Amino acid sequence: MSRALPRLDSINRDFWTGGAEGELRIHHCNDCNQFFHPPRPVCRHCLSENVAAKAVAGTGVVDTFTLNYQKWHPKMEVPFAIARVELDGAPGVYLTTNIINCDPQQVDIGDKVKVIFEQQDDVHIPLFEKID
Ligand SMILES: [Zn+2]
Repeated sequence: MSRALPRLDSINRDFWTGGAEGELRIHHCNDCNQFFHPPRPVCRHCLSENVAAKAVAGTGVVDTFTLNYQKWHPKMEVPFAIARVELDGAPGVYLTTNIINCDPQQVDIGDKVKVIFEQQDDVHIPLFEKID
């Protein structure tokens, strides 16, 4: 799938390039020990600037999802699943992503999933696939 790529900066670079080392990196606060997303220079919970990206397990659970049938682009393959994934080990952090490598009709709330990266240029987009 062709995607619009994010503009990398010092704050979001770890998130978008961690896949080069197979790591899903989520911003973490070293003061209150909580994760948050999207990456920001200031902790969403305690406003500390003592934050940095930290690798998480890369697994999670489908919290909610929808199937897209609209061909927004001529090369787009439909249908596909857009899901919100709650990440293991990072309470309260949800990624909006796609569930790939399965029939979209088989995606359901509560599915266990793991990250799989799709590389485009310098960017490694975190997508997810189901695990049994
Ligand atoms: Zn904090």
